[in-house]
Amino acid sequence: MAELKTAAPLMEARNLTKIFNVSRGMLHAVDGVDFKIYPGQTLGVVGESGCGKSTLGNTILRLTEPTSGEMYFEGKEYSKVGKREMREMRKDMQMIFQDPYSSIDPRMCVADIIAEYMIINRTYKTKREIYAQVEKLMDTVGLAKRLAEAYPHELDGGRRQRIGVARALSLNPKFIVCDEPVSALDVSIQAQILNLLMDLQDEYKLTYMFITHNLSVVKQISSDIMVMYLGKCVERATSDELFANPRHPYTKALLSAIPVPDISMRNKEIHLIQGEVTSPINPKPGCRFAARCPMARPECSQESPPLREVSPNHFVACHLEE
Ligand code: SF4
Repeated sequence: MAELKTAAPLMEARNLTKIFNVSRGMLHAVDGVDFKIYPGQTLGVVGESGCGKSTLGNTILRLTEPTSGEMYFEGKEYSKVGKREMREMRKDMQMIFQDPYSSIDPRMCVADIIAEYMIINRTYKTKREIYAQVEKLMDTVGLAKRLAEAYPHELDGGRRQRIGVARALSLNPKFIVCDEPVSALDVSIQAQILNLLMDLQDEYKLTYMFITHNLSVVKQISSDIMVMYLGKCVERATSDELFANPRHPYTKALLSAIPVPDISMRNKEIHLIQGEVTSPINPKPGCRFAARCPMARPECSQESPPLREVSPNHFVACHLEE
């Protein structure tokens, strides 16, 4: 994957926050998150369910509005632009969903599903041009021409996800949020879809945010990784650095839980996480991981650790790093 960090970031978030007002109080789904994603790169976002990673993906596409913070796309601040302008900008920012079946109309055939965004956005003048483009997109994502008139329920999960990928590509975007795109698929199909996404990235110079709970998957595709815990970024580094030198106790626990097929590694150190995930509703002061952290100290329950750069491009939020 090309290293293009000398270029300006394509996507940037500063102090991005999304708080939901729920019956029991304020749910801090995303809390003061910062990141930059450079052209042609992939930022992997990992964490357990409920850590806010999908809300982060929805917020940066403004499918849900941020509570506060700033978001920049190609240097333009877009968190407050009007609906019409946002609609235009969103052509460059698309999403691939976890469950393609829930995001497509089951009464539409494959060709119509892929054509839908192009029709809505009047990308081409005639239907003939649109359906010629559909044919090209089907070929690009590895869907046989004969499936153009098939319905989603007639296809397996892998083919349905290929429809989702083709639809996301149909407006020729620069940036795609991939929200758990392979989690619902069999392992062999997962590899095919990951390879497809990586090939498309090279071919079309795409930039991804890749959201997943699966660290083995994120390692394959990401240039940088951000680890989230209860709405906060607790560690961010290049993929190689994070796997070689994890610093946050939560990241260490996640990495040690990855199954290793090598029998010589069966005695590797396992960092077990004890206890339950605490609630993101009205969070207490201090480190959000304190209730489960084996290294917790008294100050951890009082002061929230800021995200600090502990080595070049390696950021950690933990009092142990002070
Ligand atoms: Fe653990 Fe304290 Fe670090 Fe939080 S700040 S991860 S509780 S050591």
